Amino acid sequence: MPELPEVETIVRNLKENLGGKIIRAVKINSSRSLNVPPAVFKKKISRAKIVQIRRVGKYIIIHLIKGKVFYLVVHLRMSGQFIIAAGLKEKVRIGFYLKNCWLNFLDARNFARIWLVNDWKKTPAGRIGPDALKITRKEFLERFSIFARRFPQKMVKVLLLEQEFISGIGNIYAAEILFLSRINPKRKIGSLTSIEQKNIFLAMKKILRKAIARRGTSFDYAYRDTRGRPGDFQRYLNVYGRAQEQCRRCGRNLVSEKIAGRTTVWCRRCQN
Ligand SMILES: [Zn+2]
Repeated sequence: MPELPEVETIVRNLKENLGGKIIRAVKINSSRSLNVPPAVFKKKISRAKIVQIRRVGKYIIIHLIKGKVFYLVVHLRMSGQFIIAAGLKEKVRIGFYLKNCWLNFLDARNFARIWLVNDWKKTPAGRIGPDALKITRKEFLERFSIFARRFPQKMVKVLLLEQEFISGIGNIYAAEILFLSRINPKRKIGSLTSIEQKNIFLAMKKILRKAIARRGTSFDYAYRDTRGRPGDFQRYLNVYGRAQEQCRRCGRNLVSEKIAGRTTVWCRRCQN
């Protein structure tokens, strides 16, 4: 499932290739992800100009103009992909024709969502917490204290996944952040010291920046960049997907458990 580094990679690719272009035609094979009927979508989008593309948490926001400004808000969920190609791809759900190329929207699992709206802040993208890549240390620590006072029993892994706390982190990066900051994912947030909170912040920034530099993590088929290429950060994962393998730091076997329904891997010796 694409998280912040993967969505950031896609957004950078889209900006490079599509910024300023006009959507000349739209082909809809499946409208399941849309919030409006396909005919309305087609009519509104055709001839619109792409003026800006940006990321908010795990959401892609495409600013369009045709008379007035409106927005496409996209959440890729499990397996949504944007592939730029000369033609339409075989399993394309929605194709956007721009000068000289097609932007193919694919989604094997069919959970992705696309909202066509006049105000993106009225979609779920407008109701999430500060972005994990942009948040300052001061703001992070202040927010952490507020959540720790309100929900002291909440596990730290669960907090990191909550998009209302900070946005962009999912199961892969939450596990990696907690390994790097050497904190047990089951720790109650009310019990974390200010040094531990600061270590989480520093690990989060370090991992997200490195993962973006490596164009994200392709653990399986789900994430590809807009040229269809996998990311490279899977080579650097310390814990995610490595249950029962040896800890890269101490050599002990990593343990795995479901926390709030999500498989979580960590090292019992290194993470306290
Ligand atoms: Zn270890």
